[in-house]
Amino acid sequence: MILVGFIDWLLGREDETPNQRQRSEHPVQKIEKEVLETIIESAKAAHPNEFAGALRAEGDTITAVLLVPGTVQGARHAVIRMNRLPVDRSVVGVVHSHPSKSARPSKEDLQLFGKHGHTHIIIHHPYTETTWRTWNHRGEPVHLDVV
Ligand code: ZN
Repeated sequence: MILVGFIDWLLGREDETPNQRQRSEHPVQKIEKEVLETIIESAKAAHPNEFAGALRAEGDTITAVLLVPGTVQGARHAVIRMNRLPVDRSVVGVVHSHPSKSARPSKEDLQLFGKHGHTHIIIHHPYTETTWRTWNHRGEPVHLDVV
């Protein structure tokens, strides 16, 4: 999974301080049901390719997925041209799909997670309400309530 150009865009965010990193409570706790449904539909539409987008949160809740214009979907990797979007400080991480049966982050995913945002969703085939997982910036599982 490669997100080209994502980096500069997300770098508009302030880095977390060490204190925030050590906090036991994850800053994002919930995701709106409509957002999850959008992710499911987008993943299904892109299959067998990957889809990718950015996650926007208000407070502790993910309230939107930003589907990036100009996203190129290849056989294995969704390539995002994030430089087409303005810097958005409400973005907390990325979402992408795995056409495989695993929602575990790849080595490349982990590198991206570590640099950009703190809340990352991966949904895997067959893209249902039970085939998605959330990961923090270290690739550790995070639980989100669907609200
Ligand atoms: Zn991936």
